[in-house]
Amino acid sequence: MSDVLILEGIRKGYNHGTPGEITVLDGLDLRVGRGEVVALVAPSGAGKSTLLHIAGLLDTPDAGRVEIGGEDVTGLNDARRTATRRADLGFVYQFHHLLPEFSALENIVLPQLAAGVSPRAAGARAEALLTRVGLAHRLKHRPAEMSGGEQQRVAFCRALANAPKLMLADEPTGNLDPATSDQVFSVLMEVVRETGLSALIATHNMELAGRMDRVVRLGDGRLG
Ligand code: ADP
Repeated sequence: MSDVLILEGIRKGYNHGTPGEITVLDGLDLRVGRGEVVALVAPSGAGKSTLLHIAGLLDTPDAGRVEIGGEDVTGLNDARRTATRRADLGFVYQFHHLLPEFSALENIVLPQLAAGVSPRAAGARAEALLTRVGLAHRLKHRPAEMSGGEQQRVAFCRALANAPKLMLADEPTGNLDPATSDQVFSVLMEVVRETGLSALIATHNMELAGRMDRVVRLGDGRLG
């Protein structure tokens, strides 16, 4: 009942133009509990992105059920899926994907304005989030004026801007040097714990995976 993400019997395949179809996910089951942080470990090509896209409502499975925050979202139309994605999910990618012409603060204000938050409240929340991750001195900086670690901390704040139920992260520190990766991951985990956020975080880094609540491994289309 308290699971924030439920994937049940997920199947997904791609037809590469040959008679045989490639099965990427083959009856995959996964649950992420409220406040739980799960590490997703997968060799390249195993279907990690496919899984994150399905959990993130960016793609639909061929079969199976997806539940987010207690709501079955499997059969929803595009508009309802987009609404659920905006309200309940936060994304962090390997590359920051911040808007280059906007400041750190503005990058976190904009998604809140899109969700109907007032400019004043959005600005206050953006400043509080950036301050929490140690970037109070970078509010007005644009992405190009920040280091890789700072950019990822801003991207993390953006994911949290609308207080999602679940964070989906794809190698969030994979592009950083080991020391910076460790720092960014530490602050990310602190904030996740403080806010009680649930998270599914894909990583190749077994040391980071070991700092999460549970590790699931993707292979042969299922989790082990
Ligand atoms: P990972 O993220 O673990 O590297 P992906 O989920 O990106 O793996 O891909 C898993 C498999 O599915 C790969 O063999 C890939 O070639 C194939 N695949 C992924 N997306 C598509 C697509 N849109 N069309 C066809 N094949 C795809």
